[in-house]
Amino acid sequence: MPSLTRREAVQRAALLTVRNYRIALDLTMPGNRFCSDTTITFAASEPGASTFLDLRAAEVLSVHLNDEPVDPAGLTDGRLPLTGLRAENTLRVQALMAYSSDGEGIHRHVDPADGRTYLYAMSFLDAAPRWFACFDQPDLKAGYDIDVQCPPDWTVIGNSPASRTAPGHWQLSTTQPLATYFVTLVAGPYASVTAEHDGIVLGLHARASLAEHLEAEAADILGVTAASLDRYHELFGIRYPFQEYHQAFVPDFNAGAMENPGCVTLRDQYVFRSAATRGERCDRASTIAHEMAHMWFGDLVTMRWWDDLWLNESFAEYMGYRVCAELADSSGPDSPAALASLASLSWLEFGLHRKDWGRVADQAPSKHPVAGNGSEDAATALADFDGISYAKGASVLKQLAAHLGDEVFFAGLRLHFSRHRFGNAEFADLIEAWTEAGAQDLAGWAELWLRTSGLDTLTAEQRPDDGGPADVWLGRSSPDGTRRPHTVRVAGFDGSGRQLLDEQVTLHGDEVPVGRAAGPLRLVVADSGDDSWAKIRFGAAGWQAVAELLPRIEAAPTRVVLYNAIRDAVRDAELDSEQALDMVLAALAREPVELVTAELLQFATEKLAGCFAVPADRPARRARIAELAHRLLATAPPGSDAQLEAARAGIRASDDPDWLVAWEAGRQLPPGLVIDAELRWALVTRLAALGALSAADIDAELARDESTAGVVHAARARAMRPDPAAKADTWALLTQPSERPVYELYASAEGFFEPGQHELTAPYLPRFFAEMPGTAGHRRGWALGAVIGKAFPVAAASGEVLDLAEQTVAADRSLDPAVRRALVDGTDTLRRAVRSLRRSGRL
Ligand SMILES: [Zn+2]
Repeated sequence: MPSLTRREAVQRAALLTVRNYRIALDLTMPGNRFCSDTTITFAASEPGASTFLDLRAAEVLSVHLNDEPVDPAGLTDGRLPLTGLRAENTLRVQALMAYSSDGEGIHRHVDPADGRTYLYAMSFLDAAPRWFACFDQPDLKAGYDIDVQCPPDWTVIGNSPASRTAPGHWQLSTTQPLATYFVTLVAGPYASVTAEHDGIVLGLHARASLAEHLEAEAADILGVTAASLDRYHELFGIRYPFQEYHQAFVPDFNAGAMENPGCVTLRDQYVFRSAATRGERCDRASTIAHEMAHMWFGDLVTMRWWDDLWLNESFAEYMGYRVCAELADSSGPDSPAALASLASLSWLEFGLHRKDWGRVADQAPSKHPVAGNGSEDAATALADFDGISYAKGASVLKQLAAHLGDEVFFAGLRLHFSRHRFGNAEFADLIEAWTEAGAQDLAGWAELWLRTSGLDTLTAEQRPDDGGPADVWLGRSSPDGTRRPHTVRVAGFDGSGRQLLDEQVTLHGDEVPVGRAAGPLRLVVADSGDDSWAKIRFGAAGWQAVAELLPRIEAAPTRVVLYNAIRDAVRDAELDSEQALDMVLAALAREPVELVTAELLQFATEKLAGCFAVPADRPARRARIAELAHRLLATAPPGSDAQLEAARAGIRASDDPDWLVAWEAGRQLPPGLVIDAELRWALVTRLAALGALSAADIDAELARDESTAGVVHAARARAMRPDPAAKADTWALLTQPSERPVYELYASAEGFFEPGQHELTAPYLPRFFAEMPGTAGHRRGWALGAVIGKAFPVAAASGEVLDLAEQTVAADRSLDPAVRRALVDGTDTLRRAVRSLRRSGRL
């Protein structure tokens, strides 16, 4: 299926002005189809000209252009040619569309808990034609009028206020101008909580089977929502530009969330049904704030073409974490303590989780500049929707805000929003607005940071005092010779962990004097505030100093910088994975922030005891991780996050079925720890991976928790069982066409190549590379790349598997872009693992 090219989009936008979409949906038909009846009114600047419509219908019933029939047989590869346009046109398309199970178009989910059916529409990135006929590109905005016929007990929510006009009939009021990619509809017997803040109607929605949990979580979610709205009003100086603000928590959602104006859709794991930590609440809060930032940046002002998608995401990512970090301030002294406690974690989460994701992407063969990657068509843009577009872009904007100062940064944004409201703009327009607001040489700055790829290595060190300007210097090495400016803090510590230096400097050239320390330094940390985008190394003092001082450093952002340096260095084969494990476990024994403990224990289990260890070494490494988890459990306060995180880590690393079974039965539990649904599935999944559960045992667990989440956990547990028949069934699910919901596919993919089962799964290694590219024949969009990425056998790191992976990527030039990207990225991880194992003499 061809993907819309930039050239085609430019031509179509020059020709057409879309005035309105009127969409009537009949969601009451039996079977897997719904009826979509769309009337588009639009003008053409060149009467007599031709264009094409985007439509991916199961069956086209009729097409009329200006009351003349158009032969639907002309529809090829999702495009219907339209000829003989008039100055003003009316196009009506009646079609039967198929519900999807892959989270795009109109996704249909049947809740196993009660058999009720739920729908939501996801139009991003190019899925709108799967539910209505349209001119699908971001710069043909129009107002929408949507009518829906559905079962009488359903609720309907969309981009504009919905009213129930009769039982089973809903009408949505005319929207403001919207781009096709963020038009949505949420319909089903959803449970709702509504509120109002500052005159704006707020709605929260989730499946009826989650109603109790939605109600329990509503105060927290609404608190973050209201505080974020206030903060954006303050910062942007333009009121929330749409009408109501709904947040629908929906099943099988591919992304974290989607910024549909007036009706954000979010993955429904955010409606916690089991104990959740502050870290998880912080992640949810930053997602809420991220999507809300898009209401201005992305929705009110929309990129003209997908090559500026990075700017949408970088901006929302930066604002999301920033606003989340300021939640306590903006909601005043009466703010719930919970918000303040989340705020303190926000940038730590960004540094640990998001920046690590981005740094991996920015060093992979698939790396690309943040901006100006070309994106000649929509499919390429989706493949570049990665840690570079989010985390690196956000880090760069954080540097820019520091460079310009808030006053200029936000004055430029306000100008940009008011100038292009409800329209489209490009990056150059934003540069212009910032320049008018007082920014200088922004184009040069943007060139250095946004048009290059890869990251610098920053090293700070103390040199013998020669009476010069300083004894501590900050230096860089750049992979491409680019002199990206870094504004960072540099911290110096003596052998007892006492801080003897803390300075902010801006580095333009290859090195810059930092200052004079109050004594001899054992360790100097560049970018100790975690403000820039770089790899950090430690000069002559090296890893030994990091190992000694990491547990003693008080500032959490500095510890995050050190932990991230360890992770980078393992991937670069500069630091032996066994030595890294020693350092991480020693530091985590004294780590006070549970978010950090959780992230690093996961890295230790999945990577240091996974792909960066040969199979023979893995049990001993897992045992060391489990031992630390048990020590942490012994001292964690009952019912605390620390206790929950230690329990989760202990379960993941355990090779002891008896202990797991005892916990599952509620025996030997530390006081205050409750085995709720999610923790129980963690036990079941680990037991399944160890071969201690039969298929019938897993069915029995599912019978206890017949929920959407339960079905997904059961799929993962089945895929993990070390049993040839279980592997064969899972393999068929992963490689053959299937109507199973995507989350089941993803869980099965994650479970298949379980690290402890290399002999059982070895025959599937050549099959993975031979058969996965063929899934492009029946899978598309997010699901295609996600299944391959999640199943990729990184834990099978060996020279032979690496050869196989490299040959697959090199041999087939015609690989689908999503398949290629998933294979290239998986191969990069494999290559790094093999290099590390060879360097340590284990391979
Ligand atoms: Zn976003």
